[in-house]
Amino acid sequence: MKKIKQLLGLSDEGYRDFKRAVVAVVISNLALLLPFIVMIQLIVTLLAPLMTGDPPDTAKLWLLLGCGIAAAALYFFAYRNEYRKTYVTAYSESEKIRLDVAERIRRLPMSFFNSKDLSELTTNIMADCTSVEHVMSHVAPGLFANIITITLACALLAVYDWRLSLALFAALPVSFGLILLSRRLQTKLGEKHVQAKLNVSDRIQEYLDGIKVVKAFGLSGEKSESLRSALRSMMWNAIKFEGLTGAFITLAMMIMQVGIGLVVLTGVLLLTDGGFDVIKFLTFVIVSVKIYSPLIVILTLLPEFFYMLISTRRMQQLRSEPVMTGDETIALQNFNIELKNVTFAYRESDVIKNLSLTIPQSSVTALVGPSGSGKSTVTRLIARFWDVKSGEIRIGGKNIRDVDPERLMSYMSFVFQDVVLFNDTVMNNIRIGRQGASDDEVYAAARMARCDGFIRHMPCGYETLIGENGSTLSGGERQRISIARALLKNAPIVLLDEATASLDPENEALIQEAISELVKGRTVVVIAHRLRTVLGTDKIAVLENGRLVEEGIGDELIAQNGLFARLYKIQQESLGWTAGKVMPPTKKS
Ligand code: ADP
Repeated sequence: MKKIKQLLGLSDEGYRDFKRAVVAVVISNLALLLPFIVMIQLIVTLLAPLMTGDPPDTAKLWLLLGCGIAAAALYFFAYRNEYRKTYVTAYSESEKIRLDVAERIRRLPMSFFNSKDLSELTTNIMADCTSVEHVMSHVAPGLFANIITITLACALLAVYDWRLSLALFAALPVSFGLILLSRRLQTKLGEKHVQAKLNVSDRIQEYLDGIKVVKAFGLSGEKSESLRSALRSMMWNAIKFEGLTGAFITLAMMIMQVGIGLVVLTGVLLLTDGGFDVIKFLTFVIVSVKIYSPLIVILTLLPEFFYMLISTRRMQQLRSEPVMTGDETIALQNFNIELKNVTFAYRESDVIKNLSLTIPQSSVTALVGPSGSGKSTVTRLIARFWDVKSGEIRIGGKNIRDVDPERLMSYMSFVFQDVVLFNDTVMNNIRIGRQGASDDEVYAAARMARCDGFIRHMPCGYETLIGENGSTLSGGERQRISIARALLKNAPIVLLDEATASLDPENEALIQEAISELVKGRTVVVIAHRLRTVLGTDKIAVLENGRLVEEGIGDELIAQNGLFARLYKIQQESLGWTAGKVMPPTKKS
């Protein structure tokens, strides 16, 4: 039984509830037998006068009727109890499992997400939780309770007459053996079926994500063909899996029911031998027919249980992934950031190579370099989205590996290019920066982030609903909302990814103003794409191919005539006459 706890990934409480559910089903199965026993007694009492010629025992008949009503009432209560113990507890346990999985996912390192695609992850959480819920409510308690019931019934029948019992259950090992033997094949087809389902959700997601591109480039034929073929493959996998499982179950049932024939045969032999009671024989035949229902339940639930184990196994894997840990109570005394000989790889090849860099507190440090040189990676490492492969990163003298990721996060604000906005009011979207901030604090942050103007022009001002991921806002407006969030959070460290998309001069000027507000007095790391905006920063770190190749202030680097000077020159030339005067995110100390 302990193995079941492991297999289903139940909590201690869930396991206790599960055992209670099994007991409840056994009780209701036994309670179901009571009216049946009364019925048999009724038949025997009615048949007896036909054989003996005596008048029927009316007192006994009345008593049996009373017992029948009591048994029916008992069954009602037993079934109600079963319902509560199985369904209600299954749903509350599955809620716990969902929360636990969500909580674990939140604490997993980003490397985990890098190796999993989103649809697999979603399926994991949603479908696998549903599977466990289904196993716990519909499959496992019924399966185990029926196994217990049938064992009890076997024992009782064997006491009643062991010869007939032997005949009744003779074919049972063969039929269960068949189901168990086919398990491997079923699991293999089941896994393929699950994979095909995953593939379909992948294709659907891809189709929906790319619908604009599909329309723009007239790809509807090709893209819908890949979706269609995924659906076709899922259908065939389902047919193969269901067909095979169904065939095995039917065959096992047929073999099992040979038992009835054997009972009749044995009974007739015993009767012809003499010394065997007809009523006893008839009673046994009636019971034999009835005894098959729990057996049939077991036969149908067993393959379903095996199939569900595929999902629970995957969930176990997810739940056993190591999470990021660290001290939750560490308080950072200052915000000097130090990278010492940091090397890091997303997969095999190193993308950051032996990089050392100091970012002094209350200064603006710009990371520049060609695309793919590792700028974003450095900011992600500072935020401990990933742990470094070798070397170390210290903030305020503390190795960030020792700091709880959420604790570390409380010291940082992010302004990324791909701002995620939720389908909620503007007010709530800004409040994400700090839950519990008052309306006035939100207004103040919005004003500093130069958002107030455009928000007040929206139909319902701060209460306007932003469409799915802010599709009703321009790029510049979205970024200013994300700056407002960061201002509201008021964290001492700011990691900023400057927008690459070209913005109109007015928007760009407003964003630069907002950024200037954000960087005041904070330790800032900015990924700069437009080099003219970083000339006035406190420090520029130039990356190339994961290495730090130059470091200094703008004028020095221009004078050095190295990579920075080269990149700067290229940008200036390509900008040509369009280069407008904008304010750099300067924070000269
Ligand atoms: P930059 O910000 O300078 O453009 P990045 O830090 O984004 O550079 O990327 C550095 C290198 O790491 C690139 O070669 C990029 O392909 C790779 N890389 C970035 N993100 C991932 C990721 N999530 N998984 C694997 N490789 C990545």
